[in-house]
Amino acid sequence: MRTNRTADIIIIGAGVYGCGIAYNLAKNGANNVVLLERKAICSGGTAKSCAASRTHYSIQTNLIHAVESLKIFENFGEIVGGDPGFRRTGYLILGPEEYGEPMQAVFRRQNEYGIDTATVSREEAAQIHPLLYLDDVEVIGYDTRGGYCDPYLTTMSYARRAQDLGVTIETNTPVTGIRLNGRVKTVQTPSGDFESSIVVLAAGPWTRAVGEMIGVELPYVVSRHKVITLKGDQPYQIDWPIVKDMTTPDKIYLRSDRGGTVLVGTGDHGDPIQDPDSLTDQVDQAHISRISGLISRRMPEFFRTAECTASWTGPYDITPDWNPLVGPVPGRDDIYVAVGFSGHGFKLAPTISEALAQSVLGLEPRLPISEYSMTRFSQGEALHGAYGIGSIS
Ligand SMILES: Cc1cc2nc3c(=O)[nH]c(=O)nc-3n(C[C@H](O)[C@H](O)[C@H](O)COP(=O)(O)OP(=O)(O)OC[C@H]3O[C@@H](n4cnc5c(N)ncnc54)[C@H](O)[C@@H]3O)c2cc1C
Repeated sequence: MRTNRTADIIIIGAGVYGCGIAYNLAKNGANNVVLLERKAICSGGTAKSCAASRTHYSIQTNLIHAVESLKIFENFGEIVGGDPGFRRTGYLILGPEEYGEPMQAVFRRQNEYGIDTATVSREEAAQIHPLLYLDDVEVIGYDTRGGYCDPYLTTMSYARRAQDLGVTIETNTPVTGIRLNGRVKTVQTPSGDFESSIVVLAAGPWTRAVGEMIGVELPYVVSRHKVITLKGDQPYQIDWPIVKDMTTPDKIYLRSDRGGTVLVGTGDHGDPIQDPDSLTDQVDQAHISRISGLISRRMPEFFRTAECTASWTGPYDITPDWNPLVGPVPGRDDIYVAVGFSGHGFKLAPTISEALAQSVLGLEPRLPISEYSMTRFSQGEALHGAYGIGSIS
């Protein structure tokens, strides 16, 4: 007969959140933390992420986490240890006339928090990013501190530092059931059971299935989002800023990549799916054609010779207000969730995982997370951003 292994805290899922929470728990003094991952570290949504970091958020809690997380990405080696592959490119945001006022208001808020976003003219923007056609754009914001990370390196850095601080990470260990016996939770896996008094559910889009094991219902849907890469005769420079095009219906973004390519993702437009395991990397020709149409308008010269060189898909876990669900499960102080990042969670991971870890340990979180509570929907406190419901809130 196998004896159950025990832990003080069990985390389920080793994406950027599970690993970030594990590191921050250990850093804040937790002992005997076990992280269970069904496959390999960083094999879920994080592996598919474009990992772009922007601070343009109209909801203050998001803005604070984006700014403070960016500071951690910028100084990751000293603060956490390891290399997240952060590349500072700057960030250009393009808006139609109707977003003029809210965008200016967000620029001012970003400035208050130390981000140098300024309105720039079309001519100035064209100097920063010479491929862009901008005659149809009414508002342009630019900050020099936006950029992107390597999501795998970031997650592995958190995992390694967590292990350095004593966390046990069990890969190829899917959680198949959880039994509640009062405060003791028995977490079942094919390689044996684990007992713990505290459990943190951080299984990304698969968290619903884990929550159902203990009767926790999580309000989010899963959607399949597509990314394509384009390459033309004219190399897309690696240091050109990320471009968020708010004039397009699905708010596409452009991000440089190695080898002179540009990666194009959609902010708001995805295909709903029931089961995240049904996800395939297949991207249909209709999507490539639609995105090509948008790119031919925004970068006509580049598009003349551009070809789609790669494509993939990844899952978004989308809550009703497109904002995260982070904190204790209602009515319990021993089961926590970190889920529902709605396609914009990577950039917030350093400080949300820190704040959740502090909250699990009964410490006052350095930064607020109470607005991300699961109860906000039933209490009429859903979060509303200036651009309506969507990934940029
Ligand atoms: C295409 C795409 C592009 C994106 N671009 C950006 C961007 O530019 N900027 C940004 O900020 N955000 C972006 N995001 C969002 C961001 O990447 C995610 O919000 C974030 O990575 C989610 O991390 P996670 O740890 O919650 O989930 P995941 O990375 O999905 O991790 C969950 C883990 O749980 C494991 N797991 C599942 N079930 C079990 C089980 N039963 N037992 C044990 N383990 C289990 C999985 O294997 C997985 O490793 C993007 C997302 C996608 C898909």
